[in-house]
Amino acid sequence: IARNPHESEFHQAVKEILDSLVPVFEKHPRYRESGILERIVEPERVISFRVPWVDDQGNVKVNRGFRVQFNSAIGPYKGGLRFHPSVNASIIKFLGFEQIFKNSLTGQPIGGGKGGSDFDPKGKSDGEIMRFTQSFMTELYKYIGPDEDVPAGDIGVGAREIGYMFGQYKRIRGGYEAGVLTGKSVVYGGSLTRTEATGYGTVYFVDEMLRSKGLGFGGSTVVVSGSGNVSIYAIEKAQQFGAKVVACSDSNGYVYDPNGIKLDTVKRLKEVERKRISEYVKEHPTAEYHEGCSGIWSIPCDIALPCATQNEIDADAAKLLVANGVKAVGEGANMPSTLEAIDVFLSNGVLFGPAKAANAGGVAVSALEMAQNSMRYSWTFEEVDAKLHGIMKNIYESSVKAAREYGYEGNLVVGANIAGFLRVADAMMLQGVI
Ligand code: NDP
Repeated sequence: IARNPHESEFHQAVKEILDSLVPVFEKHPRYRESGILERIVEPERVISFRVPWVDDQGNVKVNRGFRVQFNSAIGPYKGGLRFHPSVNASIIKFLGFEQIFKNSLTGQPIGGGKGGSDFDPKGKSDGEIMRFTQSFMTELYKYIGPDEDVPAGDIGVGAREIGYMFGQYKRIRGGYEAGVLTGKSVVYGGSLTRTEATGYGTVYFVDEMLRSKGLGFGGSTVVVSGSGNVSIYAIEKAQQFGAKVVACSDSNGYVYDPNGIKLDTVKRLKEVERKRISEYVKEHPTAEYHEGCSGIWSIPCDIALPCATQNEIDADAAKLLVANGVKAVGEGANMPSTLEAIDVFLSNGVLFGPAKAANAGGVAVSALEMAQNSMRYSWTFEEVDAKLHGIMKNIYESSVKAAREYGYEGNLVVGANIAGFLRVADAMMLQGVI
């Protein structure tokens, strides 16, 4: 804490991991002796840079860009870029730290990194978005490459932003290095199923948790927060599995539709027209819109899928969900539950799928995008979806197994952290003091 002052999100992410690793360090003192802990919490590299750009009125604007290259023990740094006004070093470090273990859990050869900017894409014209992303890439290109560091999207960064960044990278570097970014449009090297992967993967993971108790999505009531990339495809897969999704949100408020959310409307409003979720009720008058996004957790549901942002479920929201009978929570967003909220879920027997495991489907398919780019080949939607489903089952099983082995049967927070850690720690040990 003294070494990283004012980085509360980073401290929270590190505390969750370190608490889980106590039984590992007791059983295997070699990790302590080789200083793995001290090394793993220190990023290999932190890059911070100026991003100057000109808005539509001709004013010069300056934002701050970040890339944290956290750990490359098992592969090139891999992790998304977030454009949101709240972005700072603490948020990028927490995301990069989590990414190490998540990427390890996928079983693929990818290290951990994360980046972004405090740029706010809301209300910006297409031209402004392009000029900003080009300026951002004009600095970032020095540090990335298909075998070095492969960024992708996150909050505020979708296919449009990736496209502009890819174009700028190509202009500067020459050649055609398709594998330098993932989340590309399929017309120039993107992977089918990447858009759907995080949301679908979260639902596949929760489905495994439910099946272990003889339950399923069929006939259940589901609440999904957010209405961005992860939320939309979590809603889609939950509906395909027979659930009724009754609510979704954005940072201003939430929509409750007792008849079930009409996903076509949400997709058009959010993906095409880039409007607010409040517009939904104009087309579906039987639905209700409520100001304030946290109220969404007061809606009774069997399954809650927080898919918006960090710390969106605190202890009070968790208690409300429990009192209303929630059976399972799957984290589609990164760190959406506070440490206190997780305690509430675990101590009340709620099936809890932590972000590192439950939302790893996005980065897993990003790694499949890299593989396809290297092969100069592309798999069909069904092929990628089947691989994604298999990877999510494996992540579930390895988390269950690690939890059992270390005496925390059923605790997937501990299981995922340990399973993710062991692979990276062993790789670091084999590579000497690096
Ligand atoms: P998007 O930008 O597509 O969507 C984010 C959604 O969350 C929007 O509906 C947004 O509303 C809402 N939101 C953002 N900030 C807040 C806030 N402070 N309070 C309430 N709602 C908020 O991002 P993604 O769907 O890509 O990412 C969502 C989460 O999933 C993030 O935590 C991200 O790190 C995580 N994730 C994403 C992956 C991916 O593949 N995209 C992979 C793994 C994790 P508004 O429009 O009002 O801002």
